[in-house]
Amino acid sequence: MHVIEIDNLCAFYGKAQALSNVSLTVKPGETIAIVGANGAGKSTLLDCIMGLVKTTGTIRLNGEDVTGLKPADMVKRGIGYAPERFNLFPHMTVRDNLLVGAYTARDDIEENMAAVHRLFPRLAEREWQETSTQSGGERQMVSLGRALMTSPSVLLVDEPTIGLAPKVCAEIAEVLKRLSAELGLTVIVTEQNANFALSLASRLYVLEGGHVTAEGTAEELAQDDQLAKSYFGA
Ligand code: ATP
Repeated sequence: MHVIEIDNLCAFYGKAQALSNVSLTVKPGETIAIVGANGAGKSTLLDCIMGLVKTTGTIRLNGEDVTGLKPADMVKRGIGYAPERFNLFPHMTVRDNLLVGAYTARDDIEENMAAVHRLFPRLAEREWQETSTQSGGERQMVSLGRALMTSPSVLLVDEPTIGLAPKVCAEIAEVLKRLSAELGLTVIVTEQNANFALSLASRLYVLEGGHVTAEGTAEELAQDDQLAKSYFGA
């Protein structure tokens, strides 16, 4: 069975259509990437899955139709979301920002905090630092950590490398790989940085103007010259 199965998803902002008949599937423990340029609809797609944007079409989670459910219901069903540009509370500490993520947590909050600290030792060292004074990479770690505070089974990550140095991107890629390999998490990551996406996703979907225009493994997509040129620097 698929963990996530999306059929014919459409989304509108007023009269402007942001997503047109998007369909995709994600298997348990798989990491998939949604690759696309600015405005392609990547954030909208994750917002739709999370119940933040209204849609037509169907979203299934472990076989159950969850279309139209509210974000809090999606969190209860095991979805974690690390949005683009973090949305942290800048004048709160790292610890308090992580605790915000645990607001609806059912299990032991300190245990989850310890698990986040194991993944990101730097957040343990900087527990009492205000996030406004952190580097971009550290803030991305807080954002991912906050999403993990409810111990989700599916993690949605929106453009985790935006504005980050290559070395920090590599660190983030390592953490996302560990989440899948060690904790069995299913991950959907959106990216403009196709090489980052290739480094961790088993399959990729290319989103252009709200349409899925290609999908497949990295090897399959690399066969398409035009695509390889546009997205993978070939
Ligand atoms: P980026 O990489 O720049 O974040 P994206 O691929 O995530 O882009 P979206 O943010 O999903 O793309 O935007 C898709 C389209 O929907 C764009 O044309 C955008 O202007 C529009 N859009 C997004 N959010 C809203 C909103 N709240 N109101 C109106 N239009 C919106």
